[in-house]
Amino acid sequence: MTQIEEPQVDGPLVDGPLVDGHCHAVAAGRLGRDAFELFLTEASVPTPAGVSYADSPLGLAVRRWCPPVLDLPAGAPLEEYLARRAELGPGVVCRRLLDAAGLSHLLVDTGIGGEGFLSMAGLAAAAAAEAREVVRLESLAERVAASGVSADDFAEAYVDTLEVATREAVGLKSILAYRHGFDVDPTRPSPAEVRAAARRWLDAGSAPDGGSGSGRLADPVLLRFVLWSGFDRGLPVQVHTGFGDRDLSLAAVNPALLQPLLSLVEPTGVPVVLLHCYPYQRQAGWLASVFPHVYVDVGLTLSHVGARAGAVLAEFCELAPFGKLLYSSDAYGLAELYLVGAAQFRHALGGLLAIWHRDGAMTASEAERVAGTVAAGNARRLYGL
Ligand SMILES: [Zn+2]
Repeated sequence: MTQIEEPQVDGPLVDGPLVDGHCHAVAAGRLGRDAFELFLTEASVPTPAGVSYADSPLGLAVRRWCPPVLDLPAGAPLEEYLARRAELGPGVVCRRLLDAAGLSHLLVDTGIGGEGFLSMAGLAAAAAAEAREVVRLESLAERVAASGVSADDFAEAYVDTLEVATREAVGLKSILAYRHGFDVDPTRPSPAEVRAAARRWLDAGSAPDGGSGSGRLADPVLLRFVLWSGFDRGLPVQVHTGFGDRDLSLAAVNPALLQPLLSLVEPTGVPVVLLHCYPYQRQAGWLASVFPHVYVDVGLTLSHVGARAGAVLAEFCELAPFGKLLYSSDAYGLAELYLVGAAQFRHALGGLLAIWHRDGAMTASEAERVAGTVAAGNARRLYGL
């Protein structure tokens, strides 16, 4: 019997269009160096003297992937890069970087951004891709509260508003991680509990501001209510897990703490997408392997860990079935972060699969199939694109 030679992996494995499953608006105007650097960190305060946020794994990744798109050599110093960026202007820079990311779809969390940021249509035009909305549950509750609704009517008004807001949306987003953490009662609160909590919240604040002021939704009963209202919509619910800015308690955002909630949601069949996950990517991979409705998304993480992206991605891939892994950039503020996310992902996944193939762990055709499904196929199926 003749042995059939498997073709070798020769060339980039992850070269097709990506679905960016979780991203945000980018700043529309010109940015100075300080503003640019602040978008490269989860920190909210300036660095001490002698330290730069751009002198980091993510900063290196920006200087690796972005300068060639603006006609500079890879690794160009940040000063030169920013000068070239200013010379071309924000419109050209944004179009070039988003185009170079090679996206078919952008699933945009519209909970942050607003004035001074590109609209969803602007992002879609710059990327020459389709943009679809992901609705943030907590922001919507703050909007409903700001409308002057009474505590007795809050629950019904929220459900109605959510129904309208999600007619065109492909998913929902929860920032329970930021507003409380996952050490919360996972059950659906009763209508009486929701009314009482709404009364406390609405009475306590002046006009809700949707941000960090008095209108900020942080009541655990109401957070559970908006989350369960989200599950009721039947769309995939993206949950921020793992690192972020200092507003969250890192110890309380381990996705493993979501296990009781995931068990309660499982009978509904509503997909739950664990975003970011780092440094809990192994816990997230396990959850995706044992719960049929749980998915993991590598967004934000593969950008921030820079040259370690291959190692961190390998940990995501230790247990999670390949059909449960999703790509996103979690880009916010800088168009660079769209390209960096995509380039880091293509490089890390392509490198990982090539190693597995060379080691005999998978055939070339299997490596290609996995590359395609993680890059876009899973997201198309999950979000109904
Ligand atoms: Zn995000």
